[in-house]
Amino acid sequence: MVQSSVLGFPRMGRLRDLKKANEAYWGGKLSRDDLLAEGKRLRQEHWKIQKDAGVDIIPSNDFAFYDHVLDHIQMFNAIPERYSQHKLDPIDEYFAMGRGHQKDGVDVPSLEMVKWFDSNYHYVKPTLQDNQTFTLSSDPKPVREFLEAKDAGITTRPVLLGPVSFLALGKADRGQSVDPISLLEKLLPVYEQLLEQLKKAGAETVQIDEPVLVFDLPKKVKDAFKPAYEKLSKLGSKAPQIVVATYFGDIVHNFDVVKDAFQNIYALHIDLVRNPEQLESVIEQLGSKQVLSCGVVDGRNIWKTNFKKATELVETAIQKLGKDRVIVSTSSSLLHTPHTLDSEKQLPEEVKDWFSFACQKASEVAVIAKAVTEGPASVREHYEANAKSMKARAESERTNNAEVKDRQSKVTDEMHNRKSPFPERYAQQKQHLKLPMFPTTTIGSFPQTKEIRISRNKFTKGEITAEEYEKFIEKEIQEVVKIQDELNLDVYVHGEPERNDMVQYFGERLEGYAFTTHGWVQSYGSRCVRPPIIVGDISRPKAMTVKESKYAASISKKPMKGMLTGPITCLRWSFPRDDIHQSEQAQQLALALRDEVVDLEAAGIYVIQVDEPALREGLPLRSGRERENYLSWAVDSFKLSTAGVKDSTQIHSHFCYSEFQDFFHAIAALDADVLSIENSKSDAKLLKVFIDEAYPRHIGPGVYDIHSPRVPSEQEIKDRVDEMLQYLKPDQLWINPDCGLKTRQWKETKAALTNMVNAAIYYREKY
Ligand code: GLN
Ligand code: ZN
Repeated sequence: MVQSSVLGFPRMGRLRDLKKANEAYWGGKLSRDDLLAEGKRLRQEHWKIQKDAGVDIIPSNDFAFYDHVLDHIQMFNAIPERYSQHKLDPIDEYFAMGRGHQKDGVDVPSLEMVKWFDSNYHYVKPTLQDNQTFTLSSDPKPVREFLEAKDAGITTRPVLLGPVSFLALGKADRGQSVDPISLLEKLLPVYEQLLEQLKKAGAETVQIDEPVLVFDLPKKVKDAFKPAYEKLSKLGSKAPQIVVATYFGDIVHNFDVVKDAFQNIYALHIDLVRNPEQLESVIEQLGSKQVLSCGVVDGRNIWKTNFKKATELVETAIQKLGKDRVIVSTSSSLLHTPHTLDSEKQLPEEVKDWFSFACQKASEVAVIAKAVTEGPASVREHYEANAKSMKARAESERTNNAEVKDRQSKVTDEMHNRKSPFPERYAQQKQHLKLPMFPTTTIGSFPQTKEIRISRNKFTKGEITAEEYEKFIEKEIQEVVKIQDELNLDVYVHGEPERNDMVQYFGERLEGYAFTTHGWVQSYGSRCVRPPIIVGDISRPKAMTVKESKYAASISKKPMKGMLTGPITCLRWSFPRDDIHQSEQAQQLALALRDEVVDLEAAGIYVIQVDEPALREGLPLRSGRERENYLSWAVDSFKLSTAGVKDSTQIHSHFCYSEFQDFFHAIAALDADVLSIENSKSDAKLLKVFIDEAYPRHIGPGVYDIHSPRVPSEQEIKDRVDEMLQYLKPDQLWINPDCGLKTRQWKETKAALTNMVNAAIYYREKY
């Protein structure tokens, strides 16, 4: 029989219950016991959902109050002393590492949090010491939660992060120099104990995630797999059978590891949504009894699974391995999908029928497993309905907009390039814009005050009319223009008061997007995002930002900068389509934005910034051809969106980071006249790449951190600029903050910008 399995379930609950409980606990409004009880309730509910859906292998220990990697840090007692020394209650020590702790005389910042592979989830980085030791906590969480499920009548498969991934995803603590992977031998005994305890508790199998196998691995990490898994396999019947899970990529380039290290493990899980082509070669690597878990239901997106395609893949595996050696599974944990489609009451029926959230995906794995076990007749209705949805989506007018397709077919190479090279453009821009040296500007948003949020809410709820709201926005724009006059900035912005979110705002004005009301996914800790969904071909029915920018320009005496979110960021911060390549979606977005850019120019906006903070995070996990491909279409889409303007119009772009070393050629290829980047928290040396590569255009490395309310002094800013001038030419340098100011208060914003402008004036006089 072919079993069905889920690799992990979202933790938040139907109505973001976990977020609410956590935040109430942090705010002192919920007791510790009530918080723990809420966690228990959510786990029980999620197990039951999967059981009722007919899932055979249900995960446990996939739940976490904050983050599953952090759970492991605490369970292994890999807790830096600055947290452990306070002898906090375990749950408080846990949150202290996740989000910092500032209470009762204890003041510790959080551990570093970083992106989980190429998803929008963030994990807490294991932070290790030179003399690191590991011990297993008493009453370890995986055992406790396994028993809790067992009590509820559900036998689960506990999920652990594997020892190699745990270390490889970690780092040495500040001032330490340990190479995390060198700690493997010290860590393995803890895994052995844990596996033995799980077995004693009754676990027959355990899922050990080793997602780092999809990376290009340094030799040391690669070599760690063999000793690790030989040791764990040696436990034999003292441990549960091991399923090693990989996801978010293929493992073909690490086959030597798979062959050597995993010989004696029970099963291997691979992601066949991302990389279906790895199936046959992975099968060849398997030992003669090993089981293959086929991830055919997408854990990273919201689309209904195409049963026909998924079944074909599973059948290929069955033909080679037999039914008892195949498991039907989600491609990865469902952590990256919203809880349930049932909560959506406002989606158009047509598109709702195309979606599947976590609860629905749990049913999908069960249905596919049944189909291949008992034959198609056993689930005929499901398959027929699925085929009907697939057909409807493929034939829908939303996914077949002839005008969009026609326009895409007419895109030429020429459309990607500005009319003249930068020196000629710059000569014209100089005349046209009349900017001083060291021009000052901001990144777009000004403080999103309470009044702004209240007014937007009222408008959304219909409590004020469109005209009233528009008047309110105009008043906000007047105010920020006046403030910029007073501050004596050089290039103004309108402040983005009308924008809820930099992607959603555009999504709502474009054809081809859909929005959920409850489609939240965890980003980190209690923070969730609700990405818009690209459901069809993208087009722009009418101008999206011209009214506000034009109004702002009409009342300013200095150049007003138009503000758009770039095609890659719109794509990356949405759920993309899975029926056409992302490069096509990016091109559609680019064409829509191109029209907006041209309209802005026609309305008298001669400086236009197209933000692409998500460009870097879209980089494929492995270097090589895939990465080059991505960069090539990503750069093309940016250029297509911006190249429609005259030479005299200045194109800016913005990035919230400053590590460009590994893809500098792509940043240079954007051909933006001015780049503003994060720099205040990074080493100014990172700017060296700009001289090394003889970058000719203009750059505004952020001179102060906008994440903190702290006001930088004029001297600090000058010190920063001095450092920058070691790497950039004076006539190349812009002076601006790191990023948008929307999360700040006006008080510190004005003070910081005053110091920034004074610093710029000082350099203008000096040079
Ligand atoms: N223009 C946006 C703002 O200032 C940019 C935000 C971002 O880079 N994330 O808010
Ligand atoms: Zn930014």
